Amino acid sequence: AVKSSGRDGLSCYAPSEQASFSDQLTLRLELRQALKNGQIMVYYQPLMDSLGQLVGAEALLRWQHPERGFIPPDSFIPLAEDSGLILPIGIFVLQQATEQFARWNKQGMRLSEISINVSGRQLRDQNFIRQVSESLKEHNIAPGQIVFELTESVLMDKISGSRLQDLKDLGVSLALDDFGTGYAALLYLRRFPLDRLKIDRSFVREMLDSSSDATIVSTLITLANKLKLQVVAEGVERSDQFETLRDYGCELFQGFLFSQALAPAQFEAQFLNQVSNKRSG
Ligand code: C2E
Ligand code: MG
Ligand code: MG
Ligand code: MG
Repeated sequence: AVKSSGRDGLSCYAPSEQASFSDQLTLRLELRQALKNGQIMVYYQPLMDSLGQLVGAEALLRWQHPERGFIPPDSFIPLAEDSGLILPIGIFVLQQATEQFARWNKQGMRLSEISINVSGRQLRDQNFIRQVSESLKEHNIAPGQIVFELTESVLMDKISGSRLQDLKDLGVSLALDDFGTGYAALLYLRRFPLDRLKIDRSFVREMLDSSSDATIVSTLITLANKLKLQVVAEGVERSDQFETLRDYGCELFQGFLFSQALAPAQFEAQFLNQVSNKRSG
């Protein structure tokens, strides 16, 4: 196994394509145990408005492996999808995220929404829609407060694509994640009942150095605004990127400029304080 320094400065397992076959096999077996042993956790990355104020959060999985350290989701979600383990993991994320969202709002955080990533395999599962509506009822969450994030590869699958209307019928919002990285994206905007686009962070990263990336980003934002779709810029790391994106008409932002994904306690330490500071100040 190749270890490298992760972006959080934590020890970080190499991406799955670099891991050997036997490594992947071991990881796959360990993943099943990890879910039972509480090594799989949900972190939350804040979503900001154009004033830089908190409006919501995206639930992001983390695997804290006892020997290998932190394993990023891009390395274990594909394994979970292959083995079917993505179904119990998906239920876990759904339950954790809706419970956390309800608790934070009771504590006074007043988030308007929570985003959850959904894989194609989950959408194809007969039980998914029912699990979603049960979680919403259990925690007394309005469907409009939930955003499900889907990638283009999910939409490319016939069955998953046909499930989107069932989700819309529940009243939840749908976002197209990593927008611009696939190649039939514009077609999807017309065909599927989407509410939001998330512009992939690769465009945001290159935007200020590459005029073609800048043109793509500003055009996507204009297009989305005209189609009455919300736009989120992913991967905002610097204030000059934030300012340029605002000039282009983007209204929602995520990125290390504001915060990386945080454990619930860290999230509270950072944002519950802000609320009470605002109140007392
Ligand atoms: P994503 O949904 O596009 O999530 C955004 C990723 O970008 C996250 O990586 C986040 O930590 C990272 N990120 C956010 N801001 C910045 C920034 O300013 N700079 C840089 N360089 N990166 C930033 P993460 O947490 O490693 O997640 C990777 C992917 O794994 C996610 O991409 C999502 O596709 C998948 N994933 C995570 N949690 C789940 C889950 O519960 N279910 C499913 N199906 N997929 C998940
Ligand atoms: Mg996402
Ligand atoms: Mg994304
Ligand atoms: Mg992604």
